[in-house]
Amino acid sequence: MKLSKSFDKSLWVFHFNAGSCNGCDIEILAALTPRYDVERFGIKLVETPRHADVLLVTGPVTKQTKKPLERIYEQMMDPKAVLVIGNCGNTGHIFHDSYNIAGPVDEVIPVDVHIPGCAVRPEGVIFGVVKAWEALEKMRGAGTKEETKEEAEEAA
Ligand code: SF4
Repeated sequence: MKLSKSFDKSLWVFHFNAGSCNGCDIEILAALTPRYDVERFGIKLVETPRHADVLLVTGPVTKQTKKPLERIYEQMMDPKAVLVIGNCGNTGHIFHDSYNIAGPVDEVIPVDVHIPGCAVRPEGVIFGVVKAWEALEKMRGAGTKEETKEEAEEAA
């Protein structure tokens, strides 16, 4: 997978737990710890959705977290990408027919990247962030002049 060079700033991520068991969330923290250390690539968690490029959601959306999730999504600047980590957020998983579930994340807000797993391993979290990064680059009009030149040379 080749990323363009157009993403010239760090990728900031806001994490929201919409009702997970915490299993996926612990793996997200593991991706930040020294073994994986995603911060060395400039990827970091931020405390407000207003600063975030990516909204990372875990867990099925409960009736209590539906409105906060919608508000967080609205507060983010465009372009923005939504990344869902774990089976619960993607399908509802073991909670799908629970009386207290508003639905998987894509029934509440648009989702750009789905990463399944229970729990998702840190490698999966990192893969998901890279896919979200690519989705953002597409939204930003993908590709620098330099890249376009490279692509033209490859195609020739
Ligand atoms: S996918 Fe598994 S680990 Fe993640 S929140 Fe759901 S039950 Fe927990």
